[in-house]
Amino acid sequence: MQIKIPFAGQVSNEEQAEWLHAINAVAKQFTLVPLSTISAASRKQTEVAVVANPDPDTFNELPQLKWIQSLWAGVEGLLGAKLNPDIAVVRLADPQMAQTMAEAVLAWTLFLHRKMPQYTQQQSDGIWHQLTLTTPQQCNVSVFGLGKLGSAAAQRLRQNNFTVRGWSSSKKSIHGVETFHGAGGFDEILQHTNIAVILLPMTSNTRALFNTQSLSKLPVDASIINFARGPIIVESDLLASLNSNHIKHAVLDVFDHEPLPADHPFWQHPSVTVLPHISAPTTVSTAATIASHNIDQYLCHGTIPQAIDRKRGY
Ligand code: NAP
Repeated sequence: MQIKIPFAGQVSNEEQAEWLHAINAVAKQFTLVPLSTISAASRKQTEVAVVANPDPDTFNELPQLKWIQSLWAGVEGLLGAKLNPDIAVVRLADPQMAQTMAEAVLAWTLFLHRKMPQYTQQQSDGIWHQLTLTTPQQCNVSVFGLGKLGSAAAQRLRQNNFTVRGWSSSKKSIHGVETFHGAGGFDEILQHTNIAVILLPMTSNTRALFNTQSLSKLPVDASIINFARGPIIVESDLLASLNSNHIKHAVLDVFDHEPLPADHPFWQHPSVTVLPHISAPTTVSTAATIASHNIDQYLCHGTIPQAIDRKRGY
């Protein structure tokens, strides 16, 4: 009989069924089942679980838990959940997600570069006016965060002839991309940015990184794309920068509170594009293959995949 691995998540029944089906279709050594169907005795012996936004109390029921495979790329919710520091957290690192994100970054960079917000406004005002067209080379796009998603996005932008810079915590080398790192590099890259693409993880160091002070270091008329997590930008500071016409436009996929509250000023703001957290949804089929492979490897060889650094927060 195959070993049963629990799935713990606060997701809809349909989503849960989709994940169980997809993972069980490729799992070799185990069967993924809802945690609720596992007996109290078996829970006490469970060493690995698959999670998607789990209830933090779940982990109290699994005293032998060694690691969890998250089906999400961001882990700040899990780390805020008072998770025992000995439990290794493996997040979803899916090359397909990186490509999906790179496509979104390219799409919305082109949206800004080809002045679509201005033409939409002109149409609603009945104005026929041709704005000056610049080349992608003349457009400085800076990618903040050069991890799995940011490095794929930077490369896709390069392939489309944008002038690309990137910023990370440690020094990076990406062909055709000028890179900056650390606090010193932050101020420098801001000065050379027409479009800022935020792909940083949400940590104590990145929370409120984009605030009045840092936004003021961007050139006048710079735009922002935030596809990472809402609290990395101070929403009220961004609004003030937009209202003073320092920042030209913001494309926001993530917010302090999601769904974005109905009375939030971003909804009606002419210089804000609101997206409902859609820039890089998980592709269930590829994610299921990665998650089941990781668990099969553990069951066969005892190897736990690379986990996030709990101190660093990503
Ligand atoms: P990742 O592989 O962990 O990469 C994170 C990058 O950010 C690394 O380059 C890291 O630098 C850099 N970084 C972290 N803290 C920093 C700091 N304080 N200063 C400078 N650089 C810092 O993460 P990822 O897979 O690319 O994902 C990034 C984020 O995207 C996720 O955490 C998630 O929140 C978000 N996301 C959003 C969606 C969506 O649909 N909107 C979908 C998936 C993911 P080093 O390389 O030097 O460590």
